[in-house]
Amino acid sequence: MNIRATSQENNFSAVDNGQISTRGKSVLNQGEVALVGSGPGDAELLTIRAMRFIEQAEIAIYDRLVSDEILDLLPENCERFYVGKEQAKHCVPQDKINELLVQEALLGKRVLRLKGGDPFIFGRGGEEAEYMLKHGISCHICPGITAASGCTSYAGIPLTHRGVSQGCTFITGHIQNNGQLNLPWQSLICKTQTVVFYMGINTLPIIAKKLVEHGRDINTPAALIYKGTQPEQKTYRGTIGNLAALVKKHDIKPPTLIVIGDVVNQLTEQQLTTPGFLDAKNYVQVQNIKTA
Ligand code: SAH
Repeated sequence: MNIRATSQENNFSAVDNGQISTRGKSVLNQGEVALVGSGPGDAELLTIRAMRFIEQAEIAIYDRLVSDEILDLLPENCERFYVGKEQAKHCVPQDKINELLVQEALLGKRVLRLKGGDPFIFGRGGEEAEYMLKHGISCHICPGITAASGCTSYAGIPLTHRGVSQGCTFITGHIQNNGQLNLPWQSLICKTQTVVFYMGINTLPIIAKKLVEHGRDINTPAALIYKGTQPEQKTYRGTIGNLAALVKKHDIKPPTLIVIGDVVNQLTEQQLTTPGFLDAKNYVQVQNIKTA
């Protein structure tokens, strides 16, 4: 992938006497960290800014959700440090990750902190930035396409749709330290709002039960998107009432996103021939969904 800018004032790639030119905006200097969102997996969803930081990295400290396709874009001589986390099981604990970022920056390296999706959406990016700043390390922030946006788009689900959904909530389904899932359930039951749960696959039975108990219709359309935007992407459509059974039946594992709301069936599956591509040849109008 070669996305380097060619215009005069935007020309980024020049290295003069070992110093990277400051003409471009996304310049990673020695001793700095770039906190970069790599999106949900498809390398084509990286931003140009992300790609520029990737190209300058001397060490990449990355998570489990960063896809192989994206790791393949790292410079050949870039050191790689995996700090992947699995649910409830931290490969490298968060405080050690924070320390590592600071240590590597203090060694004068150009440090790339690569995280799945967007670093500031359920990514602990804020905590890492705070720690670095406290220790005198400057960091660049580069947003990424968050799973809710990337995965639903590639599954043909619009998060909002005029006359169907006026808004969307991103919320965590991760169990809290006290073993509870205390969420503002009352705010998640509005028929005209989409709700996207991150990290909710293991707590799905509780999520479904609580939503219904608080008044959301059990027949509300719902979807599970596994490994969205990646070659293994699978989408399972159902309702709040049968989502948990779908997980059991198909043995669905993380990373999976849960989407709740009428938008799930706004476009039918028939026209989604490959992830991210809606084929007009297969268009079937959904009759029972009201449009404004
Ligand atoms: N910072 C990330 C979210 C990290 S939390 C972002 O902005 O996307 C991890 C959760 O995100 C997973 O448990 C899953 O619910 C969701 N997720 C991330 N990438 C995903 C993908 N490619 N497909 C499905 N779900 C994904």
